[in-house]
Amino acid sequence: MVEWYHSRGSAVNCGGNHKMQIEKGWATRHTINFDQAALFDSPKNAGGMTSAGLVGHETLEAYDESKGYSRDEGHNYAASLGFPGLGSGSSITAQVQGGMVIGVTANFQLQGTSTTERIQTRYLTPIPLSEFLKKDFSGAPAYPVDVEKK
Ligand SMILES: [Zn+2]
Repeated sequence: MVEWYHSRGSAVNCGGNHKMQIEKGWATRHTINFDQAALFDSPKNAGGMTSAGLVGHETLEAYDESKGYSRDEGHNYAASLGFPGLGSGSSITAQVQGGMVIGVTANFQLQGTSTTERIQTRYLTPIPLSEFLKKDFSGAPAYPVDVEKK
């Protein structure tokens, strides 16, 4: 995978204390940035989730939520119709430059499958490492810069 942050900074392994919800930051209110979604269609993600799969998942999830179901229920509803979403991130690594966390990389399992996506994100606003290690920043605005099927 492309580890282009690491050439100018360092990496911090976040252990089990940090969570990462990719759909929350990425498809907030189910608005999809198509340039970002297109990362799923790159050759190195062949066999993984596609941009069409992401759009289908978010659309069905939103539809189910519009009927009063929770986001988790919508998430499972979309999967039941053949459009699995991404679970919580694991194996999270923070990219640090000059004492600031500029992004994280994490593994996301495609719901109900054995497919794992390794997704690198960048925060809109870098977070001081000292704060990052104390609090949960899973909801901090971030956007994906690299997607690779493991
Ligand atoms: Zn979902």
